[in-house]
Amino acid sequence: MPVSATVPESPAAPLTVLTEEERLFQATVRRFAREQIAPHVREMDEAAVFSKDILRQFFELGLMGIEIPEEYGGQGGSFFQCILAVEELSAVDPSAGVIVDVQNTIANNAILKWANADQKKRYLPRLARDTVASYALSEAGSGSDAFALATRAVEDGDRFLLTGRKLWISNAAEAGLFLLFANANPSAGYRGITAFLIEREFPGFQVGKKEDKLGIRASSTCELILDNCAVPKTNVLGEVGKGYKIAIETLNEGRIAIGSQMIGLARGALDHAVGYAKQRKQFGKTIGEFQGVQFELAKMATEVEAARLLVYNAARLRDAGHPFVTEAAMAKYFSSEIAEKVASKAIEVFGGVGVTREYPVEKLYRDAKIGRIYEGTSNIQLVTIAKQLLG
Ligand SMILES: Cc1cc2nc3c(=O)[nH]c(=O)nc-3n(C[C@H](O)[C@H](O)[C@H](O)COP(=O)(O)OP(=O)(O)OC[C@H]3O[C@@H](n4cnc5c(N)ncnc54)[C@H](O)[C@@H]3O)c2cc1C
Repeated sequence: MPVSATVPESPAAPLTVLTEEERLFQATVRRFAREQIAPHVREMDEAAVFSKDILRQFFELGLMGIEIPEEYGGQGGSFFQCILAVEELSAVDPSAGVIVDVQNTIANNAILKWANADQKKRYLPRLARDTVASYALSEAGSGSDAFALATRAVEDGDRFLLTGRKLWISNAAEAGLFLLFANANPSAGYRGITAFLIEREFPGFQVGKKEDKLGIRASSTCELILDNCAVPKTNVLGEVGKGYKIAIETLNEGRIAIGSQMIGLARGALDHAVGYAKQRKQFGKTIGEFQGVQFELAKMATEVEAARLLVYNAARLRDAGHPFVTEAAMAKYFSSEIAEKVASKAIEVFGGVGVTREYPVEKLYRDAKIGRIYEGTSNIQLVTIAKQLLG
C-alpha cells in the first residue's frame, strides 16, 4: 500500500481545512451554483441542453480557466481549486460539474503541460475567455482499450489528414476546440498515437449525432466525424507518437475530478434527504426523529466524508508533485460507488415522491451511473490499484 514517502517539516494541515483563498473560491462557486444554476436544473435536464447563459457565466467567473496563468487571462489557480469547483457545481447539477471538469482537468490541463509557446499563446486566452474544449479519445471500437483507436493521421506536407470517428465526446455540442487522438503510425502500435488540437471550423471536421442519455443529460455527448480533416503540423500537441503519454497522464488527473463530481453529487443528495427528513411527518413525528432514518443519513454522511478525503488527498498529492495515480484510481472508484448508493438511499428517504421529477433526487440517481463508466470504468480503476499492489 502507498505510504507517505516523506516526513513533513511542519505539521500537515487536515485535508478538509482550506486556505483562505480556497475557502473564498469555494464559497463563490457554491453561491453561484445555488443561486444561478439550481433554478434551471430541471428544465436543462428535460431539454437535454445546457444553458448558454450559464456557460457564459462560467467564463465570466473564471471557472473555465482555473489553472490557466493570469498572463493568458486565466485565474492562475490550482488543480485543487478545480476539484472544489467541480464538487460545488455537481452538488447542484453534475452536468454543470462535468463541463467544467472536462475543460479544466483534461483539456486545459493537457495544453498547459504539453503545448509549445505558440500554441499556448493561440489557445489559452481563448479557453479562458469564451471557447469550450473537448477531449476526444474514445471510439466505437476502443473504450477501455483506448489505444486500439482506429482514427488515422496521414502526413501531407505541412499538415496531417485525419480520418475516423470519435464517440462519446463530452462538451462537443458547445466546443470550439478539440484535443483529439489519432494514430500517425499504426505499425508502431500505441507509439503512433498523436494528440492534435483541432478547431471546429477545420475542413473535414464535423460534430455528429448527440446521444440521448439516462443521466447528465444537459452535458452534451456527441460523435465526431473526421473525413480527411486537415490539421496543420503546428497543431500537433507534444511530439508525434507521444499522444499515448498525454492521454494517460491527463486521464490520471482527470479521474480525480470525476471523483469530485461524484462527491458533490452525493453531498447534494444527502442534503436534500436531510432537509426532507426534517419536515416530512409520519406517525405524528418528522421522519428524521426515527432512528431507522437517522442511521441511514449517518451512514450516507460517513461515506461522503470518506470519499471526499480520498478525492482531496489525491488532488493535494497532485498539486504537491507527489505520485498520485493509485490514489486517483481509488478516489474515482470509491466516490462513484458511494454516489450511486447515497443517491439511491436519498430516494428512499423521500419515499414515493423520491421517484418523481418533482423532487431533485431521482435526477441525481440517474446522474450517478456515469461515474462508474467514464474516464475509466470501475474495473479499469481496480486494474490500476491491483497493479500497484501486485507489481
Ligand atoms: C456520457 C459519456 C461521456 C463520455 N465522455 C467522453 C469524452 O469526453 N472523451 C472520451 O474520449 N470518451 C468519453 N466517454 C467514453 C468513456 O470513457 C468510455 O465509455 C469508457 O471508457 C468505457 O468504454 P466502453 O464504453 O467502450 O466500454 P467497454 O470498454 O466496452 O467496457 C464494457 C465493460 O467491460 C469491462 N471491461 C473492459 N475491459 C476490461 C478489463 N480489461 N478488465 C475487466 N473489465 C473490463 C468494463 O469495465 C465494462 O464494464 C464518455 C462516455 C459516456 C457514456
